[in-house]
Amino acid sequence: MSANIAENLDSVRTRIAAACARAGRSPESVRLVAVSKTYGPDAVRAAAAAGQRLFGENRVQEAAAKIPECPGHLEWHLVGHLQGNKAAQAARLFDWIHSVDSLQLLETLDRHAAEAGRRLQILLQINVSGERAKSGLAPEAAPAVLARANELPHLQVRGLMTIPPLAEDPETSRPVFRALRDLRDRWAAELEMDLEDLSMGMTHDLEVAIEEGATFVRVGTGLFGERPRPEKGMEPE
Ligand SMILES: *Cc1c(COP(=O)(O)O)cnc(C)c1O
Repeated sequence: MSANIAENLDSVRTRIAAACARAGRSPESVRLVAVSKTYGPDAVRAAAAAGQRLFGENRVQEAAAKIPECPGHLEWHLVGHLQGNKAAQAARLFDWIHSVDSLQLLETLDRHAAEAGRRLQILLQINVSGERAKSGLAPEAAPAVLARANELPHLQVRGLMTIPPLAEDPETSRPVFRALRDLRDRWAAELEMDLEDLSMGMTHDLEVAIEEGATFVRVGTGLFGERPRPEKGMEPE
């Protein structure tokens, strides 16, 4: 298991480096978030022992049980949907929240970050493709939320995140990733904000995401293997 994780980490890093080379980008410009959801602290420790430092979870409850069992120097990223009633816990557990999708959640997080004496790094999740089942802010709603985020002292807005519709062919994700980058460029200019981060790309489409400008790729199965239990989708609760 641990030998596997170290090998998988190696091959994911090689894929990232190759995609960066093709895109003319430096490999340091892409950070790997190891999505450890459904895996226990042993898997996290194995990846950490192989040099991985950024980890992602999609459920606050699961993370609350796992994080205290993991090495202390890791950086934790919430990548799944966050409900307002879990925001206090999330503000204590996570360094980054990739999935902020409403003005109300943003303000709730700011308040809890203040109480926890922390400054949270925030990405707004954008529903680029506009299909029904996905969470994320509609693009029309995002500029007002970004502007408000800029005023909240305990949050630092770093950029945008998206989850494209599930598809076999990674090229299907390309227009979604490109649209997210275009939105970012436009809003950064209009609002005069540094929105340097784009969280996009998972195991099957990370190359395409890097070619389109991803600065975070979120990889689960490519590092830890197929998840032990079937999921309803990527957006729990
Ligand atoms: C599970 C998950 C991932 C990782 O997906 P893989 O296909 O296993 O790499 C990335 N992002 C989010 C939001 C997830 O929920």
